[in-house]
Amino acid sequence: MTDPLPDLRVKKHIAYFKRCLYMLPEPYTESDTNRMTLACFCLSGLDLLGAIETDLTAEERQQYIEWIYAQQVHPSQIEEDGQAGFRGSSWSGLPFGASSEPRTLYPYDTAELPSAYTALVNLLVLGDDLSRVNKNGLLASIRRLRREDGSFAPIVGSHESDLRFVYISCAVSYILNDWSAIDTERTVAYIKRCETYDHGISASPEREAHGGLTFCAVSSLTLLDRFQDGHSSKEALIYWLLSRQDGGFHGRVNKPCDTCYSFWLGATLVNLGADDLVNKEENRKFLMTTQTPYGGFGKFAGDLPGK
Ligand SMILES: [Zn+2]
Repeated sequence: MTDPLPDLRVKKHIAYFKRCLYMLPEPYTESDTNRMTLACFCLSGLDLLGAIETDLTAEERQQYIEWIYAQQVHPSQIEEDGQAGFRGSSWSGLPFGASSEPRTLYPYDTAELPSAYTALVNLLVLGDDLSRVNKNGLLASIRRLRREDGSFAPIVGSHESDLRFVYISCAVSYILNDWSAIDTERTVAYIKRCETYDHGISASPEREAHGGLTFCAVSSLTLLDRFQDGHSSKEALIYWLLSRQDGGFHGRVNKPCDTCYSFWLGATLVNLGADDLVNKEENRKFLMTTQTPYGGFGKFAGDLPGK
């Protein structure tokens, strides 16, 4: 069988992901609080390359699972103490351990939604059955983060709310196979309000259309099976998405191509059943220019990953 991706430096990428799992490289140290999400990029990358079972030992996989459960937060009373779910890392220096004992929270040591999503994905990629996840606590917390308009905040007390956290709430509900935390009608209506004049989708109503947020919206509607109610025209949206291709993809009108948008827009076109319309050869050529000799991809040609 001929190699479908002869230029992809598979061994280098596997080494790069493993290196980042073992130790956070210097340019990423400011993201120490988001290690669950960085681990998700590494573990999902290894999974895509078929390397989870061949390049991580069973012991390593189990140790990662224990580390993830050690980041689970178990407030004794969700209504009073805040949020169940996962924190991004043990950055605050609290004693390390996967105890499931409910306890009063330390100030600032709280769960947040993005880490719940990436923790669940990490556990599934590692072959865990999610049996130790406090599912009811997590769903009750998502319910608490829900806004009147159908959007979600990432953390109790936050004034932020946009389509990123809508997507995460839908993805967590899908993974746990329990949609009780979502008010479907309000959430679909919120997503529809984020459609822009050019039929792309913005982070929240009245903003500029953006490829990453369009991914969040279309993925949420796909998981909810409500695309037809959440956007005015599938054809117009496909046209907007395809118009973002210029070799690789860019995320907003008149911006240069950037590696990450091959994922955000490519995945959205797959969700819409329109990926056959992508010029895959040109996209691949662009991505090969951003591949680094050390493994990983930069944002632009010549960039190091994470720059
Ligand atoms: Zn980017």
